[in-house]
Amino acid sequence: MPELPDRRLLLVHAHPDDESINNGATMAKYTAEGARVTLITCTLGELGEVIPPELRHLTGAALGAHRLGELTAAMRELGVADFRLLGGKGRYGDSGMMGLADNDDPACLWQADVDAAAGTLAEVILEVRPQVLVTYDPDGGYGHPDHIQAHRIAMRAAELAADAGWEIPKIYWNRVPRAVADAAFARLREDLPGLPFGKSAAVDDVPGVVDDARITTVIDGTAHAAAKAAAMRAHATQIEVAEPYFALSNELAQPLFTTEYYELVRGEAGAETESDLFAGLAPGQATREAS
Ligand SMILES: [Zn+2]
Repeated sequence: MPELPDRRLLLVHAHPDDESINNGATMAKYTAEGARVTLITCTLGELGEVIPPELRHLTGAALGAHRLGELTAAMRELGVADFRLLGGKGRYGDSGMMGLADNDDPACLWQADVDAAAGTLAEVILEVRPQVLVTYDPDGGYGHPDHIQAHRIAMRAAELAADAGWEIPKIYWNRVPRAVADAAFARLREDLPGLPFGKSAAVDDVPGVVDDARITTVIDGTAHAAAKAAAMRAHATQIEVAEPYFALSNELAQPLFTTEYYELVRGEAGAETESDLFAGLAPGQATREAS
C-alpha cells in the first residue's frame, strides 16, 4: 500500500464548476497545507448553458470534453492533482434541470442505479481512505437532479466503504448561513450599478442556505481567494467572475464567498465552531487502518 498523506479530503460533486464555486478556497487551503484532496465529479455537464457567444456551438459530448479541459485548468489553480470522473469519463451523463425530458435519458446520472454508482465511489474511498467527505445536502443544495443524485451516491458509498473496512470519520454538507447570504446580497444590491451583470440573484438562488445555527464549520479562505476566483474563471463556459461577485448563464449576480461553510452530519465536531474540517481527529485516526 503506497504512503498516503496524513490528512485526506474527498469531495463529491455533480458537474465541473460546482467544486470551485462551493469549495474552491477549502480545496486550495488543504492542498497548500499538504493534505491530499480528491475530487470526484459525477458528470461532465454536457447540458450546461454556455455563456461566451463564441463557444455556444459546443453542445453534448463536445461541451463535455471542453468542460473537462476547464476542470483541469481549475484544478491547476487550486493545486488539486487527483480529480476523477465517477466511473470514468462519460460514464454518467448530465441530467439537465428538474422536469426536463433529459432526466429520462437512461444514460443520465438521475437514472443511474444509486447502489451501483455508490459501489464505484466506494472503491475510490477504500483507495484514498479519506478522513473527511464533503458533498451536498439531500436536496442537492437547490434541487438539481444531478446534485441530489451526487448526494445519494456519496452517502451510500460512505456506508458501503464502512462495511468494507474504511469508515469515513467526518462527513459534511456544503452550506451558506442565511445571515451571511443576506448581508452579502445587501452589499451586492448597492454595488450592482458598477457590475457587468444586469440583475441580482436572490438568496434562494444560492445552494445550501440554512439557519446560522446549523453551521458547524467555517473555513476562512481569505488567503486563497485569488485561487478560488481563478478556478471559477477557468470554468468560462459556465461562470462569469467580477470579484467579489459572479454570475452563471442566467446573468444574475451572486456573491463569491471566500469563506466557506459546512454542516457536520457524521462524526464528532472538534470544537463548538470548527475552523478546520479535520478538527478533533485523534492523531492515530489520521492513518488508522479500519479493521
Ligand atoms: Zn452542478
